[in-house]
Amino acid sequence: MLWIIDLDGVVWRGKEFIWENVEAIKKLKGKKVFMTNKATSRWEIAKRLRQVGLEGDVVTSAYIAAQYLKDKVERAFARGPFGLYEELALAGVHPTEQTHLADAVVVGLDKFVTYEKIAVASDLVREGKLFIATNTDKVYPTEEGLKPGAGAIVEAIRISSGRDPVVVGKPSKIAFQVASQGEKDIVVIGDKMETDMKMALENGARGILVLTGVTREPPKEMPEGIIVVHTLRELLR
Ligand SMILES: [Mg+2]
Repeated sequence: MLWIIDLDGVVWRGKEFIWENVEAIKKLKGKKVFMTNKATSRWEIAKRLRQVGLEGDVVTSAYIAAQYLKDKVERAFARGPFGLYEELALAGVHPTEQTHLADAVVVGLDKFVTYEKIAVASDLVREGKLFIATNTDKVYPTEEGLKPGAGAIVEAIRISSGRDPVVVGKPSKIAFQVASQGEKDIVVIGDKMETDMKMALENGARGILVLTGVTREPPKEMPEGIIVVHTLRELLR
């Protein structure tokens, strides 16, 4: 059995850990893969998990983007957190600011986004460069409430370039392939229907929707294969 466990809204909300979930996750039997649509580095996440005694593999959308691109391109124009540049470089996809050298545009949550950056990325995409979105999350939960996600930036480039991105984060098949590591019996734990649960449903896995993050009310109709819990403590009963 392999557990694919989401982070934002499950293990933590912004800077705060969600302790009832953390303690329950420690008690789950089987292999654990912690997976986030954040375009950060795996070691940054692993370090934070270790602080509370959680262990397992880590898959981030930056890592998935790097895996997807490594045999396709040599250089990419990237926009996102520092970890995105690290993961790309580690996979041999060199991040470049020299746009004429870039074979791909990779977009994550860039908190320093400007109109100019959107214009440059849109030009490259319009020219036909590979367009990769680390994720298209509309929002993400923080201790101060919901904040705009990478999807808001990807959408700006999509609209102005007229081209759709390849989305490598959840719920994509690419994301599931990297996280599932060829295992067959998989349970996805997450707080979002449109990413975590959709990925489970579309890939023959089971899903556990936990109401500690973005989703606060159980959806009216639950698809078969998905269960809802208020906290992960309910799994231990
Ligand atoms: Mg989440």
